[in-house]
Parts: sequence; C-alpha cells; structure tokens
Amino acid sequence: GFPDTPARIAMVHHTLADLSVDQQRVLFQRPIIQSDSIMATVEPIVRDVRTRGDSALKHYTEKFDKVAVEHTVLQAPFGPDLLQGLSDSVRAAIDQAYANIRAFHEAQLPQQVLTVETMPGVVCSRFSRPIERVGLYVPGGSAVLPSSALMLGVPAQVAGCRNIVLATPPRRDGSIVPEVLYAAQKCGVSTVVVAGGAQAVAAMAYGTESVPKVDKICGPGNQFVTAAKMMAQNDHSAMVAIDMPAGPSELLVIADKDCNPAYVASDLLSQAEHGPDSQVVLVAVDLSPDQLQAIDDQVHAQASRLPRVAIVRQSIPKSYCLSVATRAEAIRFSNDYAPEHLILHVEQPEALVADVTNAGSVFVGPYSPESCGDYASGTNHTLPTYGYARMYSGVNTDTFLKHITSQALTAEGLNRIGDTVMALAEVEELEAHRNAVAIRLRDLRQ
Ligand code: NAD
Repeated sequence: GFPDTPARIAMVHHTLADLSVDQQRVLFQRPIIQSDSIMATVEPIVRDVRTRGDSALKHYTEKFDKVAVEHTVLQAPFGPDLLQGLSDSVRAAIDQAYANIRAFHEAQLPQQVLTVETMPGVVCSRFSRPIERVGLYVPGGSAVLPSSALMLGVPAQVAGCRNIVLATPPRRDGSIVPEVLYAAQKCGVSTVVVAGGAQAVAAMAYGTESVPKVDKICGPGNQFVTAAKMMAQNDHSAMVAIDMPAGPSELLVIADKDCNPAYVASDLLSQAEHGPDSQVVLVAVDLSPDQLQAIDDQVHAQASRLPRVAIVRQSIPKSYCLSVATRAEAIRFSNDYAPEHLILHVEQPEALVADVTNAGSVFVGPYSPESCGDYASGTNHTLPTYGYARMYSGVNTDTFLKHITSQALTAEGLNRIGDTVMALAEVEELEAHRNAVAIRLRDLRQ
C-alpha cells in the first residue's frame, strides 16, 4: 500500500445560487457555545473567590495554572527585574504599536461639552467622565499577548481611568511575561492580578484583600472567562459592567478577480491558526475555477508550513468558500453574517466600504492584512464576535467613559416649557411631578 499522506487542508465550497434561503441561514450560524455546563463549572469558583478572597484565588491558580503563587498581585512600578528577558526589538515594537493605538484612541475623545438650547432658556448639555476603576483581562498563561494588554490599556489610559487593574494567568514559574508587564507599565496599570480564568474575573468584580474591586471588566478570554463576566454582570451585588459577549474569533474575506490568491490564503490562515473553533469565510465574487483552485492550492501549501498546522487542520475544514455572482450579493451576505473582521480584497475597495452595515473592523484593499489591525495600525482588536457586530462596537475610548447629561433652565425657560411638562405629568397621573412645576409657575406668573 501507499504510506499515509496527510489529508489535504481544504475549505468546503458552496455556490450562493444553489442554496435555499434555509441553507444560506445555516452558513450564518456559529458553533453553539455549551454555556450551561460552563456556567455550572464557573458558578462555584466565583462564589468561592467572593467569600474566601485571596486564599481561593491562590487555590484556583494552583489547580488550573499549576503554580503556587506567593503574591496574588504585583503593584506598579514593575521593576527591571520583572522586565528581564524583554528584547530591544520587542520593546521597540511595543513602543510603536502603543504610539499608533494611542494616536487613534486619543482622537476618539469627545472634544468638549456638547450644549444645545432646545427652547429659549432651556439649555441641555452632555459631558463625559472616565469610569474610575476598570479591570482588563489579558488571556493566556503560556501565550504571550502584549497586544491584548495594549488594546485594553491604551483606551483606558486615554479615557483617564483612575485605577487600572490588569489580570492575566501566570507562567508555570509564577511570573508574568515581561512583554505584558512592559505594556501594562506604559498604559499606567496600577495593579497586575497574577491569576486567570473565572477566579480572576471574580476577584476584580467583588474585590479581595489584595485585588481592588472595579466598576467594569473588559477583554477577551476563553469560555470560563466569558461566563464569569456574564455572571458578574447579572449580579447586582457585584455592581459591575462588562464590555461585550465574546466568542471564537472570525474573519470574512471578500475577494474578486483582482485578488492575489497567495494573499487571500495568507489572511484566511492568519485567522484559522487562532484555534480549532476559529471561523473563516471566503466570499468569492465571480472567480474562475482556476482562480478558486489557485486559492485552494495556496491554502494547502501555506498551511502545511505553519507551526500551528494541527490547529489549522481542524479550523479550515469547518470553514467555507461561498461563490457569488456580484459585489452586491457579496456585501449582502457579509452584512447578514456580521463578521468580527472583514477584508475587502477587491478592486475599488473604498467604494464597497460605504455598503458595510455590520462588521467589527474593516480591512480595505490588498495591502491591509488583518494582522496590522491585530497589532499595530492603531485600531482596536477587541471586537464583537458571534454576530454581535450587528449591535455592538469593538472596544474603544468610549468603552471607558460615561456620558453625563445636565440641564439648566432660566425662569423664562421654565415658563415656556412648564405647561408641556404638566400636561404630560397629568396624563401619567404623577401629581407630584406636575406640582413641582406648578409651584414654581404660580410664583412666576402671579
Ligand atoms: P485564558 O486566559 O482565557 O484562560 C486561562 C484560564 O482558564 C486559566 O487560568 C484557568 O483559570 C481557566 N481554565 C482552564 N481550564 C479550566 C477548567 N477546566 N475549569 C475552569 N477554569 C479553567 O486563556 P486561554 O484558555 O488560552 O484562552 C484564550 C482565549 O482568548 C481564546 O479563546 C482566544 O481565542 C481568545 N483570545 C482572543 C483575542 C481577541 O482579541 N479576540 C486575543 C487573544 C486571545
């Protein structure tokens, strides 16, 4: 017989014109998240950290991250001993990424107090204030993810949050990777929680002896992290907000006859290497069989050379290529799918941007790979997944701000608006509301 040759790494192919409406709908679906069993795992962990504080935090770090940590937190400044092993080139890369992310997120700050005189003497305004205490979750014990620290830390810093706490699981030796600590230092993080998973989220939501309680928890993570965030958000006694629901990362590429098959394949694989659940979709606009074949060949060839080929072998077969006839069909499908990342690898890509209604972040043209947004262009990479791009924005400077409104009425203004307010209070049968105006108008109108 023949020796075993590794199976070809290939996407499934569909043609839009051959699919019924129901079959198309199946293509929009993401893998089901088994949230009931995850919730059952996470609930006792959260309760334990809430009641036993630091000793529970240490217990779960030992159980899940296999390390008995001496201290549950590190306090800024993170000394040179903690940053050992950080190379000059990585430091420079973090510096450049920080500068770009900072420039883009600073520009998002509301410029001034917004003021509108809705009627003469009735002045409404809106101003913003930072959320005071925020918690940033940076995933991965073995993984090194300074980019996630920057994507959360920079907008929190720019917004002016007073107390920035960052949690991330320790390495097997109990230390935090220097790349993450360096990024945290630059972003003004005051406390690093040496823990991950549901226990770290619970510690930030409720506070422990060493971990300050925060008002909002942001950042990606696995299903345990997400479940703990949802649980804390639903508990009034925690009094904590979260950024958004999270699921596995996704990419949709729209490619037309102008595309470079090698570039298309490289983008698809950059997403597929994230994890076995990563969602990768190629929408091919009027491509010839030869062009489709060229992309397939590139996917197989490039995938076979990747260190993470084992992950790609799982994610690529769950991904698909959908052939459509026109750009209009492509963008309609993409808007219905609502991808986290959308790459427009087509001629005149800017024109297509105008038609995008649902997406987390858009990458325009052949020289805008997703990788640039993931790390350093300046846009945020913490984005809505799972179709939540229909109604959520990615993390941005506003994520760390509240908008407070105010109004100031003059006597003339109250005189002008008073009858309207009293009429509506009367309809709603709220006499005290009506009276609060009436008592003043009696004085003004006598
Ligand atoms: P993680 O930090 O999210 O989770 C690690 C923690 O999970 C551990 O500390 C442990 O407490 C907990 N845990 C593990 N097994 C458990 C179990 N059986 N029961 C209870 N708790 C358990 O790191 P991860 O697991 O490597 O996952 C990283 C996730 O973050 C991935 O899903 C990845 O796709 C995602 N991610 C997303 C982005 C983004 O910006 N979208 C960036 C980086 C990573």
